[in-house]
Amino acid sequence: MNTRLKDRSLSRAYERLSRLMPNKVVADKPLAKFTTLRVGGPAAIYAVADTLSELRLLTETITDYDLPALILGRGSNVLISDEGVQGVVFQLGTDFNQVVVDNTDIRAGGAVTLTSLVQTTARLQLSGLAFAVGIPGTLGAAVVLNAGAHGGEIGHVVKRITYYTRACQLRTAGAEQLSFAYRRCRLPAGSVVLEAQLGLTAASAEVIKSQMETNWRRRKTSQPLDLPNAGSMFKNPEGDHAGRLIEAAGCKGRQAGGARVSDKHANFFVNTGAATAADFYELMQGVTAAVKKASGVELEPEIKIVGDWSYVAQR
Ligand SMILES: Cc1cc2nc3c(=O)[nH]c(=O)nc-3n(C[C@H](O)[C@H](O)[C@H](O)COP(=O)(O)OP(=O)(O)OC[C@H]3O[C@@H](n4cnc5c(N)ncnc54)[C@H](O)[C@@H]3O)c2cc1C
Repeated sequence: MNTRLKDRSLSRAYERLSRLMPNKVVADKPLAKFTTLRVGGPAAIYAVADTLSELRLLTETITDYDLPALILGRGSNVLISDEGVQGVVFQLGTDFNQVVVDNTDIRAGGAVTLTSLVQTTARLQLSGLAFAVGIPGTLGAAVVLNAGAHGGEIGHVVKRITYYTRACQLRTAGAEQLSFAYRRCRLPAGSVVLEAQLGLTAASAEVIKSQMETNWRRRKTSQPLDLPNAGSMFKNPEGDHAGRLIEAAGCKGRQAGGARVSDKHANFFVNTGAATAADFYELMQGVTAAVKKASGVELEPEIKIVGDWSYVAQR
């Protein structure tokens, strides 16, 4: 029997899902390639929900067997343990990868990437998403995390979203109910964002292109885009920058195994080749402690840390 599925609940959940969603479910699926840090262990059960009914099956099974669950987008804001996820990891597929244009509004699925939305809206001469140039995630995660850059954020353009709850309910919420704030919004825990309606404005192709080019240039000069990374590792504390604090604490270039604080941008940690998730975890802990000692500031991770990490202490 598969090592990951020794647990009785997992094994039963796998059997049920394999029967109800044939060819959509895999046991022991390696996840490192699904993350931009290129680290992390396998998902005991991995599935793609292409339709709402498949999402319902997954959600019901997760609830019935009381399993840990992770909805994964493009993996550009997660650090998954080397031991993987002893539960269900799923991604949204076909039905959640659609874009519908309605005058200056766009309705896009949770699996649509910001990269493709930026290109599509630029082609349609719709302004509002140029801030997202170079953010490699999905729209669903961008809503949950209120992704932003260069003074813009997704919360500025979201009008309404559709989401699915842990209790298998399809819900909608307007922007005012979502209370967008720095890298967060208000949604019930475990909700999956299926679609967002974005309100954009008409603008000339030249203006949009110029905004996109400026933002891309800024990124290229300030971020280590040549090595695997997950963007900013820590949130910026009120009135300051995590990168500045990390640099001031003398951590630029600091390394744990194959994980390194970027020499270009101290809030970016890069995989120099053979890093493990534990390397990144240890580096984050070391940097957090150094910043606390140097400035008294307790940095808060921006990336989502997933799985069990007790093995790190025993290394
Ligand atoms: C080079 C680089 C640059 C970056 N620059 C920026 C930046 O400028 N600004 C910024 O904000 N971020 C930036 N990021 C971080 C990242 O791209 C964003 O946070 C992005 O929104 C994450 O999307 P994702 O699909 O990769 O999410 P994932 O990493 O797959 O998931 C992140 C979290 O969102 C949850 N999630 C995923 N999909 C859904 C869904 N449909 N519904 C509910 N929850 C969901 C996951 O469970 C997880 O908790 C950068 C990352 C990289 C690698």
